[in-house]
Amino acid sequence: MSFSGILGQGRAVSLLKRAIETDRLPHALLFTGLKGVGRCLTAITVAKALNCLERVEGDCCDRCPPCNKIAKSIHPDVHLITPEGATVRIDQIRTLTREATLKPYEGRGKVFILDQAETMTEQAQNALLKTLEEPPQATFLILIAPEASALLPPIASRCSQIRFAPLPEGAIATRLREQGCEEGEATLLASLAGGSLGRAQELRKSPLADVWDLVGQAFALPPGRSVPILDLTERILRQKETVPLFLEALLAWCRDLMVSKVTGHQELLVYRNRAAALRGQSEGLALRQLLAMYRTVKQTLDGLGRYANPRLSLEAMFLTLRDLQAA
Ligand SMILES: [Zn+2]
Repeated sequence: MSFSGILGQGRAVSLLKRAIETDRLPHALLFTGLKGVGRCLTAITVAKALNCLERVEGDCCDRCPPCNKIAKSIHPDVHLITPEGATVRIDQIRTLTREATLKPYEGRGKVFILDQAETMTEQAQNALLKTLEEPPQATFLILIAPEASALLPPIASRCSQIRFAPLPEGAIATRLREQGCEEGEATLLASLAGGSLGRAQELRKSPLADVWDLVGQAFALPPGRSVPILDLTERILRQKETVPLFLEALLAWCRDLMVSKVTGHQELLVYRNRAAALRGQSEGLALRQLLAMYRTVKQTLDGLGRYANPRLSLEAMFLTLRDLQAA
């Protein structure tokens, strides 16, 4: 991929292209932003543009031998460093600093990309300091972290920071459709992805069909009996990692019920492909009921990340939802 293929990061990309074109790329860069918005892909593209034989206006050709080698992760001057286990260790940084002093083997620039740089141990960060302070002539370091404050201040302050924005939902949906995602699913995944294409792609791989089925059941709980609630909770907890996704999907459904009730505009819905079901369901409920349902799901979702016991939270939520629908 060249810079022109990077989704939704126009500002960061034009800054970098200009810097490369004018030979003024800082030797220590820090890319900050959410996971899955293109930070690592952009860093690899920087390495390509620095070493490309057919560079045009700061962008790489993505076809020449250096571009190809970098794309295949076999270029001897481009290194991607990722955590070993949970952290980037001091010996990984020591190897980097040693390697950084050597001349490029075949390219114009040596590039070290440190993904999840925030996982560097304190020792590792201290070991990196000197290289960041006085980077060798042809060496470029690109640190990737959620935010500058995730690194020790002396590290962050020696890097030029480039912020990567969350991606617009429309751009994520378009990219998902290009990758073969069906229209309704693309819209829904994009709205659940929180601005991250990576997250949308992860969600696409998760057992979504199951989740939509569960959302349907959450709105069809029979009154007066607790067994269906316990069963439904059990089914959801069978795949613990999808609990937040289920709650986000449920929250989107509650939101859609309100949108359907208030505006009736199908194009504003997340679940566009289920507009008829939403209309039917929202007709039977008052806006205050819908609002209370939305709040209930939101509170459960917020509580989940902090302290709550998932089983108790889900059961309590289903009971409240059922009672609110009956009220
Ligand atoms: Zn090239």
